[in-house]
Amino acid sequence: MPLYPPEPFRIKVTEPIRLISPEAREAALREAGYNLFAVKAEDIFIDLLTDSGTGAMSQDQWAALMRGDESYAGARSFHRLKAAVEDIFGFKYFVPTHQGRAAENILSAVLVKQGQYVPSNMHFDTTDANIRARGGRPTNLVIDEAFDPANPHPFKGNMDIAKLRAFVEKVGAEKIPFGMVTVTNNAGGGQPVSMENLKAVAAVYHEHKIPFFIDSARYAENAYFIKCREPGYENKPVIDIAREMFALADGMTMSAKKDAIVNIGGLLCMNDESLFQHVKNELILREGFPTYGGLAGRDLDAMAVGLYEGLDEAYLAHRLAQTAYLAGRINDAGIPTIQPAGGHAVYLDAHAVLPHIPQSEFPGQALAVELYREGAIRGVEIGSVMFAYADPDSGKMIYPKLELLRLAIPRRTYTRSHMDYVADSLANIKSRAEAVRGYKFTYAPELLRHFTARFEPL
Ligand SMILES: *Cc1c(COP(=O)(O)O)cnc(C)c1O
Repeated sequence: MPLYPPEPFRIKVTEPIRLISPEAREAALREAGYNLFAVKAEDIFIDLLTDSGTGAMSQDQWAALMRGDESYAGARSFHRLKAAVEDIFGFKYFVPTHQGRAAENILSAVLVKQGQYVPSNMHFDTTDANIRARGGRPTNLVIDEAFDPANPHPFKGNMDIAKLRAFVEKVGAEKIPFGMVTVTNNAGGGQPVSMENLKAVAAVYHEHKIPFFIDSARYAENAYFIKCREPGYENKPVIDIAREMFALADGMTMSAKKDAIVNIGGLLCMNDESLFQHVKNELILREGFPTYGGLAGRDLDAMAVGLYEGLDEAYLAHRLAQTAYLAGRINDAGIPTIQPAGGHAVYLDAHAVLPHIPQSEFPGQALAVELYREGAIRGVEIGSVMFAYADPDSGKMIYPKLELLRLAIPRRTYTRSHMDYVADSLANIKSRAEAVRGYKFTYAPELLRHFTARFEPL
């Protein structure tokens, strides 16, 4: 297990959480139709549903909020954010957006035409949907190792360069308005992309005059993984690694709710001036004036500070060690997880814990419900509830390869004893796993059913 340093912060403001009784948890589950999205946040003790917008802001970020300049145009807050964006990412032009998907929406609206392709290692679901919404075809070209949960490859988020070359040659560069890479690869388990791979991806795109955009929600975690795992980077400051990553690209989209440690916000950056003109017009239509882009001035200030705090090496060392520690303790309890541990989350193999529950009875959901029942802990199923579908021709159910429970860790929010509590709760479930039963739907909508479905125990 890696060194797990003490939290590099101390606690100045607290937010109470409470553990409700087992009977109250059972009632909350029944009322929610055994769907944790429908459980009230106040009935949850440890909330690992997502790391998006759930981090704790620092004293400097809270102080920055008070300096927020709410001028409609040209606010001081905008210029402070601009200075940070130029310093870290180095692109010539940028606009703030209210979150990552707004940046993706605007970029897709301006660049994607019917029938065009946008390759990436793996698109995040909102990126995928925004490209499709404009008639485009998002294409995932991650290395095969990404699909083997036990493979300990250090950069499982890497693009398969041979696949990318073959793909560009097959569909033709004129059919590719831009290419992407997601760092870290959220949809593939929070796995990093190496600098060597980013350079190779940039070379292929640029050889074919395809603009290269980085989906940079977890740019800082990716840069720190490079420092820890890629030869030649061990002594380089993380901020310089980030600068080297972004110098390879022509632009980026970003959800600031992740590594910029704010509760809301996003960025869209680019070097091309005429693209910037189009982006500004689209932004004014959908988000707001280009110097605030759907955010309050104070949000811009909190982001400007958070962009640097996310790169702090003591913070990153603690964060990645915390995730690896939780994964290690869960493994010690006999529960396999996707290897190696990603940056922001641990992905448990629910099928291995509950081998007696068939996919048609939702083992991932059963484990998620059981973890709430055991410890009032909330994770999210990534398995058959989210992804199984009936084949339109045969009517046969098609099930995903993996039945996972994701535990995402909010930034600077929980301590080691919270992680121990989560691991101990899972160990208790493991020791009585044979008695855990599956579930069936009592209601399921057509699309994105995991958000609103209702269940009944079998
Ligand atoms: C969260 C996320 C997004 C979307 O950002 P929102 O702020 O939730 O709209 C896009 N890409 C990645 C990799 C993400 O993790």
